[in-house]
Amino acid sequence: MISKAFKATVLGSIILFSSCKEEQKTDQQSMTENSLLQEWTGPYQGVPAFDKMNVADVKEAVEKGMELQLQEIDAIANNMTAPTFENTIVAMESAGKTLDRVFTYYGILSSNRSTPEFRAVQAELAPKLSEFQSKISQNEKLFQRIKTVYEASQNNPLEPQEQRVVELTYKQFEMNGANLDAEKKKRYAEINKELSTLYTQFSNNVLHDEENYVTYLTKDQLGGLSDGFIKSAAKIASDKGKDGMYAITNTRSSMDPFLTYSTERELRKQVWENYYSRGDNGDEYDNNQIIAEILRLRKERVGLLGYDNYAQWRLQDRMAKNPENAMDLMLKVWPAATARVKEEVADMQAVANELGDDITIEPWDYRYYAEKVRKKKYDLDSDEVKQYLQLDKLTEAMFFVAGEIFNYKFTPVTDGSVPVFHEDVKVWEVTDKDSGKHIGLWYLDPYAREGKRSGAWATTYRSSTTFEGPTNVLASNNSNFVKPAPGEAVLVSWDDATTFFHEFGHALHFFAADVKYPTLQGGVRDYTEFQSQLLERWLSTDKVINQFLVHHETGEPIPAALVEKIKNAATFNQGFGTTEYLASALMDMKLHLADPTNIDIDKFERETLNELGMPKELPMRHRTPHFGHVFSGEGYATAYYGYMWADVLTSDASEAFKEAPDGFYDKDVAEKLVTYLFAPRNAMDPAEAYRLFRGRDAKIEALMRDRGFPVPKN
Ligand SMILES: [Zn+2]
Repeated sequence: MISKAFKATVLGSIILFSSCKEEQKTDQQSMTENSLLQEWTGPYQGVPAFDKMNVADVKEAVEKGMELQLQEIDAIANNMTAPTFENTIVAMESAGKTLDRVFTYYGILSSNRSTPEFRAVQAELAPKLSEFQSKISQNEKLFQRIKTVYEASQNNPLEPQEQRVVELTYKQFEMNGANLDAEKKKRYAEINKELSTLYTQFSNNVLHDEENYVTYLTKDQLGGLSDGFIKSAAKIASDKGKDGMYAITNTRSSMDPFLTYSTERELRKQVWENYYSRGDNGDEYDNNQIIAEILRLRKERVGLLGYDNYAQWRLQDRMAKNPENAMDLMLKVWPAATARVKEEVADMQAVANELGDDITIEPWDYRYYAEKVRKKKYDLDSDEVKQYLQLDKLTEAMFFVAGEIFNYKFTPVTDGSVPVFHEDVKVWEVTDKDSGKHIGLWYLDPYAREGKRSGAWATTYRSSTTFEGPTNVLASNNSNFVKPAPGEAVLVSWDDATTFFHEFGHALHFFAADVKYPTLQGGVRDYTEFQSQLLERWLSTDKVINQFLVHHETGEPIPAALVEKIKNAATFNQGFGTTEYLASALMDMKLHLADPTNIDIDKFERETLNELGMPKELPMRHRTPHFGHVFSGEGYATAYYGYMWADVLTSDASEAFKEAPDGFYDKDVAEKLVTYLFAPRNAMDPAEAYRLFRGRDAKIEALMRDRGFPVPKN
């Protein structure tokens, strides 16, 4: 999961506009009192004052930030001199700095330290932010200036980075309705406002169902569960006022291990049904009507721009370019994935029969019997692996990889000069290993806590740009590991270690950026997961295994035989993993290609799965009524396929390393990787960048091999 700060997820397209000059500070009073509005001071080119952050300041700060940015935008739009790259595009790139700073705090308060108090402010601000965005994207005078610069650049191209920022800016405005007439623009903005409210309702409904369907177990219902899981379930129950009981909450992190290990089949079914019914319970928190309305509004909105459907509009500036290319990839992999499910189900049924369990595999049995097959076939005990995966050592391992591939050195900042938003957050300075040149700061917020969103993500507080002089990078990684007792090691699963590397890949992508303008920092949705997915591959390289995967008590390196088992098991359960993912990705696309006029979401989902030949033994990874990627905003709408799109690149690029003389530590391939695939971010067309790295386009074969699927013949 990536969350490039708050902007990308919540504000969607606004990322282009947020960056601002500090000229018109009209209300000096509030500027000096509200800490969120202040310039960042202190070492390292100034750092966020997380120690002074206050929820009570948020509303005023966001409103002030919007006001300042609108003044700057107006100044650009009303400039009497003829539009030029400098006075229009560069001026826009420079605008919005105050609001940018406020959003850094906003992101922390929303993701790392959320409270009901903050969520109330957030709900109040959502429609205002949408209006703010419309005021910029629909500013007629501003757009005419951009258009003039754009048209001139089509005849007399600028330098490559200048040209690209002009084209991306123009495209962004055009895609957001700037070419529409006044009446259509009005409707366009109305639709966006309605959508922003629906997105909030959608998320709140899912949240409601996650919080209100808890399964409580008694002591005799704990069969199969690990001590650690039982302890945490007891604690959650006790926190909820049910002392002596054990709580299975309605979230993935609770559901997944319960379904994998619990011997109580009826309870597995109940937990499964709670989880996969989120947003679909036919009550006031049901999302089906909201989704239908979202789809209708999206279709109407892109219709104003002359597009047939949302997918067509959305994918034009993605690497896939159009829905056909995305569907084509998914449908190439789908038959192999579902065929593998059949084999997995047969293996599981055989195990169930051997055990004398008189059952037919149902969706709530999949994880449970898959784990039994894993043990039998691969003899791999996840708990044994954990003993060699310590958070501190994994962190060192990532620094080692960053040193080998990017030539970075990480040094802890322990003198208190950099404020943090929680005592658990640690900070490192990143420098070049040889020259000692300062690159930035890396913040790590490792542990789960109340008010922190689940999962793992990466974000930036400041990105690297050079157009106003070089800036350093302030990047962060955020996880939800369970905080250990003092002096004890944090032991993590192989999957969590992989995710830890993944998020670090996003951070390295931020640090390695060599771009001139903020707009060129922007992620291309089906491309930005590639760099992070690729970084995962270094976890299982020999150098990392031998140096950093050591037993937390004995310090012994992980046994070669255990590593062998991990590698053998890498393609295990790929039928399940690929099919549950693809079912969601295909649904996302098909929902947006369909006519939403009288759409019945439940029925559409059922019929689409039937047509696709979805195996009955497993559900979609995200069923439509709680598919937050797609309906709690627009970040991943018709973009969920992007994970697989990026994975095609990941597999293909990792083969470039495998083929090289020094494998994953080959200096030549590493240099090309950094130069073409990390440093340019969006300063270069991703397809072109990839060709420069690989000498050709990515092929699907490597992905099929990685997943253990038969490679299609041409
Ligand atoms: Zn990611």
